[in-house]
This record gives sequence, C-alpha cells and structure tokens, in this order.
Amino acid sequence: MNPDDFFEVLAAELDRYADVPTDVLEEIVTRDGACMWLYANDSEPEWTGDDLTDRELAARICAGCPVRRECLELEFRTAGPVTLGVWGALCEEDRRAVYPIWLARRSNSPEQDGGPSS
Ligand code: SF4
Repeated sequence: MNPDDFFEVLAAELDRYADVPTDVLEEIVTRDGACMWLYANDSEPEWTGDDLTDRELAARICAGCPVRRECLELEFRTAGPVTLGVWGALCEEDRRAVYPIWLARRSNSPEQDGGPSS
C-alpha cells in the first residue's frame, strides 16, 4: 500500500468514532493510552527523541497501544494538524497528511459531535 492509500484508509477508519463524544475519547485515551500508563506509573520511558526520528519514535511508543485510533481522533478534534511530536501512532508529518482527508470526510457528514468544530 502506498502512503496516500494508507492515509485514506486511516482517515476512513476514524469514521467509526464520529459519534463518540470528545469527553468520552479523552477518558478512554487517558485511561488506556500506553504512554499515559508509563507516565502515570513514574517509570521513565526508555525512548527519547534524541536518537530516533519521530516516525521511529511513534512506532516504538505506540506499537502496543490499544487506543491508537481513539488517540488520533481526539488529537484531530482538539488540536488539528499543528501539534508537535507523536500522537495517535503518527509523527507530525503523517498527521498533517491524514488531517485534510479526515476533515473532508467529516465536513461531508451530517453534523455530529465528532465534527471539526466540536
Ligand atoms: S497512540 Fe501513542 S500517543 Fe496516543 S495514547 Fe497511545 S501511546 Fe500515547
């Protein structure tokens, strides 16, 4: 699958969260996110941005996270494409590629909580 196809598929996968309220997504990601667990337990993450690219860091941090899609949906709703670092298992560059596709899909949907303005 080429990168453009991957971004399309990823944006489409987020459609399932369109009706999930933002506060519910926040609760899910805060409770179940792999990186949240690391910080909550005071264990220093082994990874740093010093030696790895953001894409490598995303793969390492988020690989086993059970809420990758929820995290990405939440990030798009609350911060858009402009945040730095790794969220939703994607580096900045990849999020910027997916965001306009996600936005277009939501803009073409009936009004719902998961729209761009919620
Ligand atoms: S997807 Fe990555 S950034 Fe998001 S909660 Fe999971 S580990 Fe953290």
